Amino acid sequence: MKIPFNKPYFTGKETEYIKQAVETGKISGGGLFTGKCQHFFETRYGFNKSLLTSSCTDALEMAAILCGIEPGDEVIAPSFTFVSTVNAFVLRGAKIIFADSEESTPNIDVAMIEPLVTSKTKVIVPVHYAGMACNMSGIFELAQMYNLLVVEDAAQAVDSYYQGKPLGSLGHMATFSFHETKNVISGEGGMLVVNDDKFSKRSEIIWEKGTNRAAFFRGEVDKYGWVDIGSSFLPSDIIAAFLYAQLEHIDDIQNRRKKIWNFYWDGLKILETKGILKLPHIPEYATNNGHMFYLICADLVQRNRLIEYLKAQGIMAVFHYLSLHKSPFYEKQYDGRELPNSDRYSDCLLRLPLYYELSDNDLEVIIASVLSFFRYE
Ligand SMILES: *Cc1c(COP(=O)(O)O)cnc(C)c1O
Repeated sequence: MKIPFNKPYFTGKETEYIKQAVETGKISGGGLFTGKCQHFFETRYGFNKSLLTSSCTDALEMAAILCGIEPGDEVIAPSFTFVSTVNAFVLRGAKIIFADSEESTPNIDVAMIEPLVTSKTKVIVPVHYAGMACNMSGIFELAQMYNLLVVEDAAQAVDSYYQGKPLGSLGHMATFSFHETKNVISGEGGMLVVNDDKFSKRSEIIWEKGTNRAAFFRGEVDKYGWVDIGSSFLPSDIIAAFLYAQLEHIDDIQNRRKKIWNFYWDGLKILETKGILKLPHIPEYATNNGHMFYLICADLVQRNRLIEYLKAQGIMAVFHYLSLHKSPFYEKQYDGRELPNSDRYSDCLLRLPLYYELSDNDLEVIIASVLSFFRYE
């Protein structure tokens, strides 16, 4: 018996759509399936402009260019996040000002942001951890007051909402990931959403290696050339064909993942009731998109013992981010402020297996193992 942490789910249509893409004879970026995927997001979630990218990392790098980051500009982001959230801005010369997570969730603590704002601050990057919304009204209040841009790192947040509004539709820009570990996948893959129209035109240029090729194909200019900086951010249409097969099944995928999440919740809530550990907290303004089920253990030693205990029974549970302010790359430049909640999530958070094909029987085995570790059979 072996239960992996993740297992990519294939809906069955992926290879058929890839074949179709091949048969159209056009498999570079911006083809038929790229258009279908972008249209899907724009109509279903009301995103202003969606551009598929080769990864969420690429989408973040595009966002950093669009924000006009110059050396010395400051960007406020959580320390408990994936490297790409901030590396994209560091590539453009930004200084990252790390903020702590909330006590109750790993999301950025809005109360901690205001004292970090200076005349050099340009952007806030909220990360919707586990697909659950950050406190966006608090973030927008600050953004308005200090004239800052907001880029949502919605890598984990497909099909999730803040007060009824889709995540990814709120920030000036937002980024998504379709990496194989996310809810809908294309192996590697991502998307930039541009909600503020003033960035739309430039986003297409950056996407197409700094050229106005998109405008040319729409007949808006009679030749295309090098007009700005950019890179090759768009994926092959083969990747988009794969992704489109997933998007057609998004409701089914989401329903199964949320069912698994609720199964864990029902089976493990006794441990929270008894004060032994904490389960995910969902603020009243947020929804759960079934991206991740995590536990917050009492301390690092207990968390690592639980990982070992589950592993001995063939169950792969994993920890998550190491605080970026303490990373080998950034610690030398860091100003030294303590970020206790970020460190606590680094030490104590454990993620349980969550994938479409995880069976009810698997879930019962995992839940029984966690309960038995805490002697709660
Ligand atoms: C997965 C993830 C990324 C990176 O996504 P890629 O598509 O692998 O580049 C960035 N930020 C967060 C919060 C993520 O979970």
